[in-house]
Amino acid sequence: MSAFDTFVMVDWSGGNDTGPTPRKDAIWVCVARDGQAQGPVYLRNRQLAEVWLGDTITGELAAGRRICLGFDFPFGYPQGFVRAITGSDDPLGLWDWFAAQVKDAPKANNRFDLAGEINRRFGGAGPFWGNGLGRDVDGLGRTKAGYENLFPDRRQVELHARGSFTCWQMAGVGAVGSQVMMGLSVLARLRQRFAGQVAVWPFQPLDTPVAFVEIWPSLTVGAPPEGVIKDAWQVQQVAQDLARMPVAELLRLLDVDAPEEGWILGVDPGLTKRSVQPPPLRNDCFALPAGVSWTPVDQALALLRTRLTPVAGIETVPLGAALGRVLAGDVIARRSNPPQANSAVDGYGFAGAIPAGAHVLPLVNGRAAAGGPYDGVVPKGHALRILTGAALPGGVETVILEEDVTVGDGQIAFHGPLKAGANARAAGEDVAAGAVALQAGRRLTPADLALISAVGAGDAVRVRAPLKVAVLSTGDELAEPGTDAAPGQIYDANRPLLLAMLQRFGFEGVDMGRIPDDRAALRAALDRAAKVADVIVTSGGASAGDEDHVSALLQESGALQEWRIAVKPGRPLALAMWGGKPVFGLPGNPVAAMVCTLVFARPAMGVLAGEGWIMPQGFDLPADFEKTKKPGRREYLRARVRDGRVQVFASEGSGRISGLSWAEGLVELGDGAQQVRRGDLVRFIPYAAFGL
Ligand code: AMP
Ligand code: MG
Repeated sequence: MSAFDTFVMVDWSGGNDTGPTPRKDAIWVCVARDGQAQGPVYLRNRQLAEVWLGDTITGELAAGRRICLGFDFPFGYPQGFVRAITGSDDPLGLWDWFAAQVKDAPKANNRFDLAGEINRRFGGAGPFWGNGLGRDVDGLGRTKAGYENLFPDRRQVELHARGSFTCWQMAGVGAVGSQVMMGLSVLARLRQRFAGQVAVWPFQPLDTPVAFVEIWPSLTVGAPPEGVIKDAWQVQQVAQDLARMPVAELLRLLDVDAPEEGWILGVDPGLTKRSVQPPPLRNDCFALPAGVSWTPVDQALALLRTRLTPVAGIETVPLGAALGRVLAGDVIARRSNPPQANSAVDGYGFAGAIPAGAHVLPLVNGRAAAGGPYDGVVPKGHALRILTGAALPGGVETVILEEDVTVGDGQIAFHGPLKAGANARAAGEDVAAGAVALQAGRRLTPADLALISAVGAGDAVRVRAPLKVAVLSTGDELAEPGTDAAPGQIYDANRPLLLAMLQRFGFEGVDMGRIPDDRAALRAALDRAAKVADVIVTSGGASAGDEDHVSALLQESGALQEWRIAVKPGRPLALAMWGGKPVFGLPGNPVAAMVCTLVFARPAMGVLAGEGWIMPQGFDLPADFEKTKKPGRREYLRARVRDGRVQVFASEGSGRISGLSWAEGLVELGDGAQQVRRGDLVRFIPYAAFGL
């Protein structure tokens, strides 16, 4: 697509003609060419605007210019509405449907009746609300009372555009519901008139001379200087900005994936990509600084932390599928929790504070309940029956518990003192609208889902795809669990261990089976693993012996980085890139394999999964054992806590799988020499803190 020669920005209006004097909330347009915006043009009604737009398009086409027209109303509705109305998913079908239904004249139109008619198709309680007429419309509520909407309240793009109105709201200051309906029918007619020459963004490729795009000036250019008509200033600003924008930047902003709901030009297109794939890791990400022989644990961890970046893709899922997934972006509170000040108890509400002593207050008729608000104002010196969760009506700040009052004769009697605001919850006291409710990188818990719901962000959650981790065991001696094993064989214990740990970490394990000690077979297995997974974890064959085929193969291909980490248990950790995917070559001994996974592989994979760096939380507890530890290597002992004291497994043998199972965590002993006596504090890290 080449650049545009002319930009025409339009601020639309859903209302009626109110006269020839330029004023706000009418239709304003502005033309920009060669980086220069002309003066804004006032068009007093939609009929004039349609003529003006038709003439302008005709003129630009005749002059051989490409023209981009921007309109400040949604080109699509929230997901599902198009199909429910037209039976197809083509949003432009809905445009034509509106063009056929809408009757529009300068002083009157049928938009409220049409909204009511649509609502009646869905039971009469929604999706539209707000009747601006003097008469009632069957199916269209005047207020939101009794409102029910089968469709999402907002389009995806509106989740990222704070302060937007929903396209379902037909009346009230700033409501866009009417503009959409009235605007789309005009655009549908222009498309028919200039058939084949108009493309609508982002539903169609922009390969025609005329493009229609959706804009929202208040979002992208902000508020005007004082004393200027906002709509006039904003269209001029947007037109000028677009006319001066480098072509590459405009193309980037136009590159969105929103085939049903549409998008607002200027809002980050990355947010529309159903799955965003981050860049792969660099091939030298595991390289160690020159001259390093033994790497202390903390240094190894710091290297992993800084060298790795997230590789898991990003997608949008419904709330019900978000448990255990990693947030790809911050969750911003779209409304406050609680949204309104409300009562924390069942009782009686009144204004202000109450001094010490006996008091009698007359009761007003009625009551306030959760979901059943009291619409009136409670006069000073009166009280109203109020129930837990009910919005505080006008005139009520303080609530007294029903247990603390005597009721009779239309009045309540009780004893003070009571502070103003007692037993009431302030609006937003938990979370204020616009605040970050949850931060990117968090693995979502059940409580997080409650919070996301409460702050109005429960329609969809932007998360990372689960990290896919291929697991393979190596060794000629390995037999499959559950089969008969020959006397010289041992059962593969690492693969079930690793796959189960990955599941607990929230990653997706991919079982690649057992691979014999054979270089060709191993090569083929790594190739397969690199195709299906984000990360490869092997166990066995990672040292430098004759039968250590994992390290030999990685060495041969030039990919190996042998990390000799000063840790016990643990042989060298073979780190490599294979087919663009990181490989963690774990030791074969199950104890070392598990400890290295918990200490090194899991936090590293956490970064790859988008979780950031995870530090397991340990506790200092008295030892119920004695040990003399030599300097040089950090040590991890299989441990558990009984009666507040830390026990360690009797044997430190690294083949003792029973000790892994006996233990409920690890004791971490520092890098230096240490003499642990009974009662000394040692650092205990429960398995649960490692994510198990
Ligand atoms: P390697 O690192 O291949 O020299 O293996 C070290 C020790 O761990 C040897 O005794 C292996 O038999 C044992 N081993 C290797 N892989 C596994 C496995 N998947 N399950 C249980 N033991 C293993
Ligand atoms: Mg082996």
